[in-house]
Amino acid sequence: MPTNRSTVPHTTTALTIPFEPAQGGWYTEAEHDAIRMAVSGSGNWRTGWRGAEYVASFEDAFAQYTGTSHALAFNSGGTAMEMVLRALELKPGDEVISCAINFVGPHIAVIGQGGQLVLAEPDPVTLNLDPADTEQRLGPRTRAILVTHWNGASADIGRFVELAARHPHPVHGPPVVIVDAARACGGRTPSGARVGAEGWATVFSFESKKLMTTFGQGSMVTTDDHGLAEQLRGLRTYGGRSGWGTNQLLTKAQAAVGLVQLARLDEMNAARITRAHDRTAALADIPELTLPPTLDEDLHLYYRHNLLVPEAWAARGRDELMDVLAHRYGVGSIVSDPVTYLGHDLIRTHTTGQHCPRAEQLAARLLCPCLHPQMTEDEEAQVRDAIRRAVADIAQLQPATAKENG
Ligand SMILES: *Cc1c(COP(=O)(O)O)cnc(C)c1O
Repeated sequence: MPTNRSTVPHTTTALTIPFEPAQGGWYTEAEHDAIRMAVSGSGNWRTGWRGAEYVASFEDAFAQYTGTSHALAFNSGGTAMEMVLRALELKPGDEVISCAINFVGPHIAVIGQGGQLVLAEPDPVTLNLDPADTEQRLGPRTRAILVTHWNGASADIGRFVELAARHPHPVHGPPVVIVDAARACGGRTPSGARVGAEGWATVFSFESKKLMTTFGQGSMVTTDDHGLAEQLRGLRTYGGRSGWGTNQLLTKAQAAVGLVQLARLDEMNAARITRAHDRTAALADIPELTLPPTLDEDLHLYYRHNLLVPEAWAARGRDELMDVLAHRYGVGSIVSDPVTYLGHDLIRTHTTGQHCPRAEQLAARLLCPCLHPQMTEDEEAQVRDAIRRAVADIAQLQPATAKENG
């Protein structure tokens, strides 16, 4: 909302807490041992870096962990999502519904595979795709619902599978539910299932910022559909013996380190959840802030610790708050994520005429100050203190809204 607020005078402080952490960058002696073994075991000209058995072991462990029949390793979440969508063989006009507040990657993948992206609104509390709004947008052209477990909060996948069953496509039957779990590796959904066990296919990412990482890049797809698993196997290695494919494999060293990271995933996530819950409790008395929901049972892994400012601070006040946090108190924060169609030209052009006002409003109130389980107590205290002071600084500029909590 435009107001004639004065701008905040800055004293420029060096950023002591970065804008965002390399979240998965948490290797112990066990990861280093695995790396050494992969390297020393590859110094032979007869075998070199070939290591299908490493990748197979990682895939088996991942399938077992998530409770799925198949887990297939890919070199990135982006390519894996493209290949899952490719398996649908989308025709012009075929629609894929996805939440407007999202990482741009899955939306670009839909466009890349020839689908029509249909934007939907987020749930106002979790900011995950809203089932009610999704139902409004389901129609005879819907081929897939693409659900992102946004910032670590689990979406209710079973609910979307039910919705899809009620709105079958005239040729292909019920739309498939594709899950983007790049930020939710190790979580559980409301049914108690591990993330990855529900829906047609789930895409994970092991990029450097994610909850576990295989040297900064990597991905896994889980599915119970044997046909899809076969197709994906072909797509990632030159079509197997028949169709089109390319090379999207994970390396031996990545698989070796992935096995160790997977074994440590629950412990790493638990530390993150504790830190997030503690931060939420510590900020609970700041009336201007809407804090992330405190959920049990791994229903929220807090990939990011989202804060929402009052409606009256949307966009401009939020931007000032981030500015004050960084320049006055040295604490970085990002907007993760903006509405994809406002931030990316290809998505904007592709979705011309579509608007998600609730998503725009929520995204304009959103900021995510840096959170990581490995931050020291002092660093965490600095972040909390900075948030408290920066909010007070902004509130002082606009006393009328200080008590509002939109
Ligand atoms: C990181 C991320 C991706 C993409 O994964 P990459 O492995 O980096 O290609 C997709 N979706 C979401 C929500 C992400 O956070």
